[in-house]
Amino acid sequence: MNKLEKIINLAEKRGFIYKSSEIYGGLKGFYDFGHLGVLLKNNIKKLWLKDILSMGNIFLIESTIIGPRVLYEASGHLENFYDRLVECKNCHNRFREDHLLEGEYGEIEIKDNKALCPLCKGELTEARNFNLMFKTYIGPVEELASEGYLRPETAQGIFVNFKNVINSMRAKLPFGIAQIGKAFRNEITPKNFIFRIREFEQMEIEFFVNPEEDEKWFKFWLEKRLNWYIKTLGISKENIIPYELPKEELAHYSKKTVDIKYKFPFGEGEIEGIANRTDYDLKRHMEYSKEDLFYFDQEKKEKIIPYVIEPSAGVERIFFALLCEAYDEDEVPNEKGELEKRTVLRFKSYFAPIQVAVFPLLSNRKELVEKSKKIYETLSKDFSVVYDSSGSIGRRYRRQDEIGTPFCITVDFQTLEDETVTIRDRDTTQQIRININEIESYLKEKLKICNS
Ligand SMILES: [Zn+2]
Repeated sequence: MNKLEKIINLAEKRGFIYKSSEIYGGLKGFYDFGHLGVLLKNNIKKLWLKDILSMGNIFLIESTIIGPRVLYEASGHLENFYDRLVECKNCHNRFREDHLLEGEYGEIEIKDNKALCPLCKGELTEARNFNLMFKTYIGPVEELASEGYLRPETAQGIFVNFKNVINSMRAKLPFGIAQIGKAFRNEITPKNFIFRIREFEQMEIEFFVNPEEDEKWFKFWLEKRLNWYIKTLGISKENIIPYELPKEELAHYSKKTVDIKYKFPFGEGEIEGIANRTDYDLKRHMEYSKEDLFYFDQEKKEKIIPYVIEPSAGVERIFFALLCEAYDEDEVPNEKGELEKRTVLRFKSYFAPIQVAVFPLLSNRKELVEKSKKIYETLSKDFSVVYDSSGSIGRRYRRQDEIGTPFCITVDFQTLEDETVTIRDRDTTQQIRININEIESYLKEKLKICNS
């Protein structure tokens, strides 16, 4: 197995991620998240919220996933949000034309100036536009007027609430509206595990600024977001790559976009995009809704349409990057002192899904079990904790290493005499003895976000 396969294997085996509808053969491009996956995802979202809410001028929103047809006419998605699709006339596999020509499906043969199917060398159809939005109908009648779409980005729910937020929150430029939520894209070829999927979660901020200050704020957000990956999530600098999109790759609304890419084992991939969406969206919604979406600038006494800087991050992609970043294999001594191979996820302790594991040395000694359960219950109030009493201590350590638990506490016979326990560090595997009433302060110190 290569590194990527090992990571996917571990994520599925240990309950981070499952294939969606697996008992029916799996649904391509969809994944479910298990207990540890949900905990890790929540931690990513919490760290993001903490970082942006501390600015004081970001307001939250949770808008609906389904929107009416007119919303996506206004946003330009019905007209512009498509991929060029070709189909093999022989095997009927479908490909994205751009990816086909880039060789993503393997080497392609050209005949009479036309690419052939990379799978069977069959003839391909002419490329046609394939819209990436999922369509549905709202209410019982299937007609144009009742068409609804699953949102392809959370952003539009923000733009249509622009006036509501200004009026209810007394928002003044510059300010942002942020949203975390699901978005859907009917990708022609989902691939690379949870990297390109059809249902995913976004963390987006639409940051409204005076049009004269768009470049200044673009720079601000690019730096702030790069910092978040490197300092808060602790991703090494070499693995985070800003990439400015050339004009021909820009989305229909964008004046400038810089992608933040992560060096995945399969290659570089975008985990966030910072875009200057200008006044495109607000203008279009004014045009289609006939509502006044101007902002009144109190100082200049004039009406303006703000520009928008949008940092848009993909939760699953960040999740995947953290798994890749944390994955490691090394050798550590077992109970007999012999070196043994282990797999370890070196998550930063403050966002590890489980922060502490509590073990009784032996599961058949009532005093040890009772004491451990008491410690488990106390710590559960402030930390993400598991209790585990099955198998040898060595096996229990290995299991916690594999899910990235930074600290393991063991209650042994000495505990019964002097109220001390051992705390073992995942990365160094070193153990220290401390008093039970010092555990909390010890952990709190260790789990603090380190910003240096
Ligand atoms: Zn074919």
